[in-house]
Amino acid sequence: MVVPYKHEPFLDFTVEENKQQMLDAIAKVEADLGKEYPLIIGGERIFTEDKIVSVNPSNKEEVIGYVSKANKELAEKAMKVADERFQNYWRISDPKFRADILFRAAAIVRRRKHEFNAHLVKEAGKPWKEADGETAEAIDFLEFYGRQMLKLKDGMPVNSRPIEHNRFDYIPLGVGLVISPWNFSFAIMAGTAVAAMVTGNTVLLKPASVTPVVAYKFMEVLEEAGMPAGIINYIPGPGSEVGDYLVNHPRTRFISFTGSREVGLNIFENAAKIQPGQIWLKRTILEMGGKDTIVVDKEADLELAAQSIVQSAFGFSGQKCSACSRAVIHEDVYDQVKDRIVELTKELTVGDPTENLYMGPVIDQGSYDKIMKYIEIGKKEGNLLVGGTGDDSKGWFINPTVIADLDPKARIMQEEIFGPVVGLTKAKDFTEAIEIANNTEFGLTGAVITNNREHLEQARRDFHVGNLYFNRGCTAAIVGYQPFGGFNMSGTDSKAGGPDYLIQHMQGKTTSEML
Ligand code: GLU
Repeated sequence: MVVPYKHEPFLDFTVEENKQQMLDAIAKVEADLGKEYPLIIGGERIFTEDKIVSVNPSNKEEVIGYVSKANKELAEKAMKVADERFQNYWRISDPKFRADILFRAAAIVRRRKHEFNAHLVKEAGKPWKEADGETAEAIDFLEFYGRQMLKLKDGMPVNSRPIEHNRFDYIPLGVGLVISPWNFSFAIMAGTAVAAMVTGNTVLLKPASVTPVVAYKFMEVLEEAGMPAGIINYIPGPGSEVGDYLVNHPRTRFISFTGSREVGLNIFENAAKIQPGQIWLKRTILEMGGKDTIVVDKEADLELAAQSIVQSAFGFSGQKCSACSRAVIHEDVYDQVKDRIVELTKELTVGDPTENLYMGPVIDQGSYDKIMKYIEIGKKEGNLLVGGTGDDSKGWFINPTVIADLDPKARIMQEEIFGPVVGLTKAKDFTEAIEIANNTEFGLTGAVITNNREHLEQARRDFHVGNLYFNRGCTAAIVGYQPFGGFNMSGTDSKAGGPDYLIQHMQGKTTSEML
């Protein structure tokens, strides 16, 4: 038996000791920068000529690490290892043995929490609080999925009859390809990889190319925790080469992807094509984008509304698929909420997150250019109230930007920007506000700020998103408390951190024995 799951508490950086430990950890991580990292295939370290250069998004000149880059040949080698390890070993391994690796890994990450936090500040440009939330989430995934596996290890109850004994067991699928994102380069990478592994599958882990070093560090944690060689194989590389090759591979059994709608749809389509020699239908677990809305009613705590919008829009520079990128505000309180959003936004600090400011950089030049382009579009579509400027001379910094008085169908109210930009629009009543909230192709998160109980119930019924929050912001789901995943073009509604997540990495087998 294990103790019941509880989420990992967050650090309070106003406590001097925590602040000092974080500063020490940042110094330690800085002393370690610029190292070379190999691939890990079947436990073997493989250095390649060609390298991914991971840089600090606050300071493009600072190299976090030079990471070996897989290609098709190495991807094939990794597939062979993973396939063999699955068939002959991992699929019949003891679920308790697998869960114990996760529990030990959680303990190791907990001990090295400051180091992981500091690493996320450097490699992903996360402000301290965001980095700490992410490391806590990685620990939560380990603790939660370990426990979930223990619950599922004996299958589910089914009926038997006097002369017949029936069982319903979950067995693993095979080799899983895990393609993880840069915005939660630790938590989602770790969560998706260990969910696939603890359920008895072997894994090919292709972390995001802009944040590969944290995934290497996590591989070391898993090895220290006792994960045998070849179970999770670390193969960073270009999506267009390694990703596509493995998505199309006939031995790939399932793909667990978190990232953009565009790449997700491509995977969905390619995975559906049966390749020569393929004897199964590939399963896809896809977590894609969002265009998430906070609805503000007229009977509402307006200060709470403004705070929730600003925090959900600008935490980690809006680079969360859960971020609030639109607010729909009842016309009676629109001006009041709008003015308060502007005041709060002006108070936010932007800069190098090693100094623990509210907002750091965006991830890379491509993101910077895309977000700035959307700001230009937004300036034409609505009224720019605050922000609208950026500076990419040293790192990729964009000021928090509020654009008001938008048509609900405006481009910046419909398309995912993935940056610190929020659009505001008015609704004449609550029903219209919910209609506007539902008017995109996405359906990930949303929030409603109201003191009207009928309206809460109306939203519960009609606001069509996977994660709906009442009287709070729309980000920061906690593993095991708010299972996370969206509807429509936001993905396959595979709820990460939820009670049915692991089952998606397995298949049910019925056995019936005559007595
Ligand atoms: N789970 C995160 C949240 O609730 C967002 C994950 C993502 O952006 O991919 O804020």
